[in-house]
Amino acid sequence: MSSPLDLPGWRHVYSGKVRDLYVPDDLEPDAPAERMLVVASDRVSAFDHVLEPGIPDKGVLLTTLSLWWFDRLAVGGDGARGIPNHLVADHVLGADGPRELIPDAVSGRAMVVKALEMQPIECVVRGYLTGSGWAEYKMDGTVCGIPLPAGLANGDRLPEPIFTPAFKAPMGEHDENISFERTVEIVGAETAAELRDLSLEIYTRAARIGEERGLILADTKFEFGRDEQGVMTLADEVLTSDSSRYWDAEAWRTGTTPAARMASFDKQIVRDWLAANWDKTGTPPELPAEIVAQTAARYRELLSRLTS
Ligand code: ATP
Ligand code: MG
Repeated sequence: MSSPLDLPGWRHVYSGKVRDLYVPDDLEPDAPAERMLVVASDRVSAFDHVLEPGIPDKGVLLTTLSLWWFDRLAVGGDGARGIPNHLVADHVLGADGPRELIPDAVSGRAMVVKALEMQPIECVVRGYLTGSGWAEYKMDGTVCGIPLPAGLANGDRLPEPIFTPAFKAPMGEHDENISFERTVEIVGAETAAELRDLSLEIYTRAARIGEERGLILADTKFEFGRDEQGVMTLADEVLTSDSSRYWDAEAWRTGTTPAARMASFDKQIVRDWLAANWDKTGTPPELPAEIVAQTAARYRELLSRLTS
């Protein structure tokens, strides 16, 4: 599916690497939107480039996973508080209101959400050491400035989950890992603490749910925005295979190589293939059919392991 689409009732306003955003088509040109339609395409990005071709039905899988997590997290209990999210009201109760607004052409891959004042911080939580965290640790023994014990290997579990924020770069630029102190400078001490506490809390809850299903939630990224009442609200996508690294717990325990330990349910297959076949200059090469098929199969497997 390419974008933007002509959708009845909606006007296209923005396309990110993966999602296309629409506002109601009767909205005055400069008026702030109250709600938006977020459509997840099948586009896949790695190293900040959108690749060709897309992964069949990826947008539907991402949306299904996000909705599943939003619903679970919204409900408190067992000492956990409910996490407010950007889905338009009643979704959790299963009322058919918001779904009526979703055009057939994007059904299954779209959500109607409250337009929030987004925080410019990608709220990353890591429970395990890998990726850009591992790269920094190898050089300095830290991740986003947080000192870690010596002697950790790629893929190791951290003593406790850590909040490692990134500054959300403007379109086309790389997000930049930043320290907590820098986060405080950007959003203020109170908001920085709120983002950190919410992120660690959601990660811990989700990691436990994954564990019950034989999955390790190695790391993940959240985005938050404030709603009209100023409530910090979970937005964008949540705990999907695009925003998170999920590994098979059994493979992690028994694997003898980093690749075997970190058998992932996400686009790591794409990242690995690209890293081996592209020098990161110019346009990335087209993904081979078997990489596309393997990635699609992993996305589907994650959804069934989590939700069935
Ligand atoms: P970029 O926007 O830099 O391209 P991206 O590739 O992650 O980043 P997408 O995920 O494709 O972008 O697009 C989704 C966009 O919508 C993000 O910029 C995200 O911050 C924004 N967004 C998500 N939920 C909301 C919301 N409820 N209100 C306002 N903006 C939102
Ligand atoms: Mg995004």
